[in-house]
Amino acid sequence: MRVSVLCKYGEIALKGMNRHIFEKLLRDRIKKRIAEFGRFKVYTVQSTLYILPLDDECDSDGAYEAAKRTFGIAAVSKAFETEKDMDAIIRVAKTEIPKYLEGKKSFKVESKRSDKKFPLNSPEISNEVGGAILQAMHGRVKVDVHNPECVIRVEIRDNAAYVCTNQESAAGGMPTGSNGKALLLLSGGIDSPVAGYMMGRRGVVIEAVHYESFPYTSERARDKVIELAELISRYCGEIHVHVVSLTKLQEAIRDKCDEEYSTLLLRRSMMRLADRIAEKYYCKAIITGESLGQVASQTMEALNVTNPLANRPVFRPLIGTDKEEIVTIARKIGTFETSIQPYEDCCTVFTPRHPKTRPELEAVIEQEKILDPIPMEDEAFENEYTITVGSR
Ligand code: ATP
Ligand code: MG
Repeated sequence: MRVSVLCKYGEIALKGMNRHIFEKLLRDRIKKRIAEFGRFKVYTVQSTLYILPLDDECDSDGAYEAAKRTFGIAAVSKAFETEKDMDAIIRVAKTEIPKYLEGKKSFKVESKRSDKKFPLNSPEISNEVGGAILQAMHGRVKVDVHNPECVIRVEIRDNAAYVCTNQESAAGGMPTGSNGKALLLLSGGIDSPVAGYMMGRRGVVIEAVHYESFPYTSERARDKVIELAELISRYCGEIHVHVVSLTKLQEAIRDKCDEEYSTLLLRRSMMRLADRIAEKYYCKAIITGESLGQVASQTMEALNVTNPLANRPVFRPLIGTDKEEIVTIARKIGTFETSIQPYEDCCTVFTPRHPKTRPELEAVIEQEKILDPIPMEDEAFENEYTITVGSR
């Protein structure tokens, strides 16, 4: 049986004159993502994007899951196509729908017929189909016409009839590519992948930079970061991860500078380098996973030591969130388990025993003069290499 996927827009529905630009972005994005699941026709009508299989070989479940992870789509459902005949419709409802209602409390059936020659009217169709589903579920679900947990829809159109599953919520946000490109500072922690996902959800194309400090950080630590990039690329699409080595710089900080300032000096170099990489790859903003007050380098004073080094906006989507909220999102998008694997990060090697929490910019700049980081940053910038993950 052919199964179509129906996708309801999110915020695009609110767009005015240039809505068609967003719709086209979304269609192109979906087409790319579902290409591996077979031949489909993709089109939009009234805030809904339709994915219709063109032959029986199509993997509609694959397309459904891909659509669910596509930014710009707020909700998805499946439509089972059948003949315009009550027996056939009931057969489909009884065999396909119960698994979508398992564990739910209540449902109702809503019907619509654009073919007015169909022998039953809409309430009659809903009654019959609802009764058949109830019978098939042997009391495991109730009908509630006022406040149902699930709505099963039946549509009688000119060419065929469709039985649709309850809408499931999807990724939401804006289509990828509708809001420019930004550079994510990606560590192996819990926060930065979530920060990337959140900006990706606003339609931003994500490019990433990861700083390593080999041999103080291991290859396993880098592989973990690449795995995290792959996990968010399931939502955000292809990501180029630029890997930059800070080994020499960190050794120099350790050998020359006051220990209290080491993290701040490192973070200043990270921000200056991020700005150069952003410039090189046409990224209009920088994204970090910082959350106010989470650690010593994320106090207002500490942020003020790194912020002026960027020549473009620095987005910190997690700035006002609690760790618990960040963890909830990390679990939802599937990065949490990878993030908590215990590998070292360049920020955690040579960490000061008593980091400055209220640093004065002048004092940091004095330390930076002793360090003379620019030649080492030039070398790090030149030796950057790129790993690309995800293709859709
Ligand atoms: P995370 O969970 O993202 O690692 P964190 O709470 O450990 O965050 P920090 O280590 O202070 O916080 O890092 C703050 C932000 O700096 C990170 O969210 C990330 O954006 C960036 N960052 C930290 N380490 C690296 C790194 N090795 N490479 C690239 N960016 C990094
Ligand atoms: Mg970290």
